[in-house]
Amino acid sequence: MHIQDILSSQQTTFSFEFFPPKTPEGAESLFQTILELEPYLPHFVSVTYGAGGSTRELTHDLVLRLKTRTSLDPIPHLTCVSHTQPEIGAILERYASEGIGNILALRGDPPATPGYRREEDDFQHAVDLVKFIRKFNDRGVHADRRGFGIGVAGFPEGHPATPNRLVEMDHLKAKVDAGADYIVTQLFFDNHDFYDFRDRCELAGIRVPILAGIMPATSLSGLKRMAELAGGTRFPAKLLRALGRCQDDPERVTRVGIHYASEQCMDLLENEVRGIHFYTLNRSDATRQIFSSLGLRHSRAENAE
Ligand SMILES: Cc1cc2nc3c(=O)[nH]c(=O)nc-3n(C[C@H](O)[C@H](O)[C@H](O)COP(=O)(O)OP(=O)(O)OC[C@H]3O[C@@H](n4cnc5c(N)ncnc54)[C@H](O)[C@@H]3O)c2cc1C
Repeated sequence: MHIQDILSSQQTTFSFEFFPPKTPEGAESLFQTILELEPYLPHFVSVTYGAGGSTRELTHDLVLRLKTRTSLDPIPHLTCVSHTQPEIGAILERYASEGIGNILALRGDPPATPGYRREEDDFQHAVDLVKFIRKFNDRGVHADRRGFGIGVAGFPEGHPATPNRLVEMDHLKAKVDAGADYIVTQLFFDNHDFYDFRDRCELAGIRVPILAGIMPATSLSGLKRMAELAGGTRFPAKLLRALGRCQDDPERVTRVGIHYASEQCMDLLENEVRGIHFYTLNRSDATRQIFSSLGLRHSRAENAE
């Protein structure tokens, strides 16, 4: 379904993000997670795109499997990194022919490949990819006359490559002006950062829905990995203190992380967030517990009541 249709009801959206596993065992375990989360009726699920090589085909495979074997609506991530215009064109044609409705357009994390030179990429920034998808949409190849719905990334705490937050907001606005339909944010642990970001978007004239990215910190090692991946994430002392109190007990660490994320979500819902996007790390337990603590209806049976 086109993201504009998904977002057109004034309901808060809930969505889940997965990454494509590299092994057949990982793929089966993810599919189990997906089956556990499917009854929660997310408005969409998204699938990340690797930095290069064969992992990229895995994104396509998972998207297609979700589309054909579940009732979920998958949104593939697509990145500028190491791609030429004809390659991106071919990917879009394939997704269009398979009935995929939306794309999350990103610059992407640079690959570890030695000799990679970003300046040689055909698309330097996500905005160039958004423009390219819009041109593709204008060709009328997609069965939906609007073409692909387009999402872009936003960074409530700022993106490390642009220390000047005013300039950064100009870059975000450029992506929206180029045709993005919605923004999904990087994870954050302090809702004030999100509310301030939302206000700054409003002041900049950015009117598209902003979906808040939430990731429960369920282990200390995960927290460290997260700090590396989402460079610059601020970990509030309140969270660190709570995790520190139980650092020798992994089960309690998980409970603390889930409790913290549940409170964040509760507060976001109180403050009229347009959507919550869960970084699931391919696991279902944390997301399921957060859902139940929020009192959300989460099964087909309940929805039919
Ligand atoms: C929701 C979400 C999903 C993600 N999924 C993936 C994924 O699947 N695969 C992956 O590899 N990475 C993913 N990432 C990581 C993301 O690709 C990186 O954080 C990347 O560095 C920024 O991506 P962007 O799309 O915001 O890039 P851009 O919008 O291109 O911005 C990148 C930097 O360049 C600056 N900039 C933008 N335009 C200009 C310009 N014209 N001139 C100068 N500077 C400019 C921006 O201010 C920013 O600092 C994801 C991030 C988020 C938040």
